[in-house]
Amino acid sequence: MDAWFGTMELPLILKRFEADYKSELVGERLLSTPQHYAYLKISEGCNRTCAFCAIPLMRGGHVSKSMEEIVREAEGLVRKGVKEIMLIAQELTYYGLDLYKKRMLAYLLERLSDIEGLGWIRLHYAYPHKFPLEVLDVMREREKCSQS
Ligand code: SF4
Repeated sequence: MDAWFGTMELPLILKRFEADYKSELVGERLLSTPQHYAYLKISEGCNRTCAFCAIPLMRGGHVSKSMEEIVREAEGLVRKGVKEIMLIAQELTYYGLDLYKKRMLAYLLERLSDIEGLGWIRLHYAYPHKFPLEVLDVMREREKCSQS
């Protein structure tokens, strides 16, 4: 039996094998990096149209993870000893536009920088067009946040 699935379609894969996907049974994330740092994906896909890039074709359009899910995951990582979190996405600055109808990266940074025990939040991959300038205010005010 051959079938194609997208990278976010684990429930569909399981369904194909007549198994149920139960999100409540998915365990806490396992760390594959050294204990002091971790990558944290905040969205998948991209709505930009850079001519050289095939990512939107392969990954599809931008889909944000909910803020609660991200904060919960970050808190879990900190409990495991992580001090430095690197936020990743194909395009960080787009975060929230699909879910909350506005760019929410700055607010997400505030929420994450409130987590006790987390020492450093780094941002990877920010597209410059329509960059949410309030992110710079948060970076200035909260010393945990920085751009890589
Ligand atoms: S923003 Fe990044 S992921 Fe999106 S199309 Fe451009 S290069 Fe590709």
